[in-house]
Amino acid sequence: MLLYFSNICSGDFMERSVLHCDANKFYASVECLYHPEIRDKPVVVGGSEETRHGIVLTGNEKAKKLYGIKTGMSLADARLLCPQLVVVPPNYPRYIRFSKMLRRIYSDYTDMIEPFGLDECWLDVTGSRLLFGTPEEIAEDIRKRVKFELGITVSVGVSWNKIFAKLGSDYKKPDAVTVINRDNYKEIVYPLPVSDLLMVGPSTTQKLKNHGIYTIGELADAPPEMLAAFLGKMGYVLHSFANGYENAPVAESGSTPLIKSVGNGITAPRDLMNEEDIKSVQYVLAESVARRLREQGLKGRVVSIGVRDKNLFSFTRQSKLSSATNDTRKLQSTALKLFNSNYSFETMPPVRSLTVSVSELCDENDSFQLDMFEDNELAERLDRLNHTVDGLKERFGSDCVRQAFLLKDEKLTGFDPYEKNIIHPVSYFR
Ligand SMILES: [Mg+2]
Repeated sequence: MLLYFSNICSGDFMERSVLHCDANKFYASVECLYHPEIRDKPVVVGGSEETRHGIVLTGNEKAKKLYGIKTGMSLADARLLCPQLVVVPPNYPRYIRFSKMLRRIYSDYTDMIEPFGLDECWLDVTGSRLLFGTPEEIAEDIRKRVKFELGITVSVGVSWNKIFAKLGSDYKKPDAVTVINRDNYKEIVYPLPVSDLLMVGPSTTQKLKNHGIYTIGELADAPPEMLAAFLGKMGYVLHSFANGYENAPVAESGSTPLIKSVGNGITAPRDLMNEEDIKSVQYVLAESVARRLREQGLKGRVVSIGVRDKNLFSFTRQSKLSSATNDTRKLQSTALKLFNSNYSFETMPPVRSLTVSVSELCDENDSFQLDMFEDNELAERLDRLNHTVDGLKERFGSDCVRQAFLLKDEKLTGFDPYEKNIIHPVSYFR
């Protein structure tokens, strides 16, 4: 803060220019590109019944505005509101591809790109102004290019800090640019409800309301000590957010993974009765998770399993590995170990659904510590084998190479989690 004002006074201060680009109704827009025939109908992308109990992940303009369908609503409720609703299953590989294409456009303007979920990014364009024009011109350029090159739309907020830039991208949409500068921020930002502010969830909103604070302006004017008295440290953070004091840098490209976890799940075609069944299904899931990690150049350190038994009792367990991995066998053996130490078929009912996921992701090329207790040469050979098999599957389909033991019960293992059964990346539900 002090530094900041002294810079202004000395006259050589170059204020930061931050853009926040938000792809509008991202999943639904991408699906409408692939299915032009549904473009003018009310459309939602809905989670698969097994893994997310069938909820609305996103809807297009029509579904949301005309029928009041909201993200997070159950598909059943959404169908009640709109019987002719078109429900499309999510296709994450597709969304990840679009997310990458968006970032490729952004990277023409700056290398400081910080993704926030699959469909949002902050861009620091402070250093790009000489080359590409004012931040507003850059925002306009991006908006037009995304529409022309990808066929979807973004709304862009322009400001001197990340918080107001994000409010800007929300302010006018779709396909719009909003500039929030030092001259107009009180006019635009202050009347907005506090719940619009980043990190203000329902419980914080309620606490603020209890103290008579409804708008961002009221939050900005409140004494920070008073806020801290009922919000703790968060009180100071939110006070600085509301005043536009936020000055966290926009992370450089590649420093934050696009997604926080990769997972696959399945409700088995028949109940799983023994360890052999579990091993087979977990292998297919682990193989798909590992392949998706490798494709995105990622490794993960925490392996989680989810188990739901016949009586619909469910639990999750996780285990942290000594080093990050994207090796199928390692994931599968960890998943099986987790299962065996938490489940006993002798005393517990047959299992109905299983999930395997990996989090604490990092770049697969990140330097890593060699594991003393592991055969590192073997690990390297397995890595090459994995990538070779991935290449074959890419060209000839997911089931062109399979483990022999999976052929024992093809009914059980013949599903293709790579194309289906992908668990929604958690980061979207922040
Ligand atoms: Mg969006």
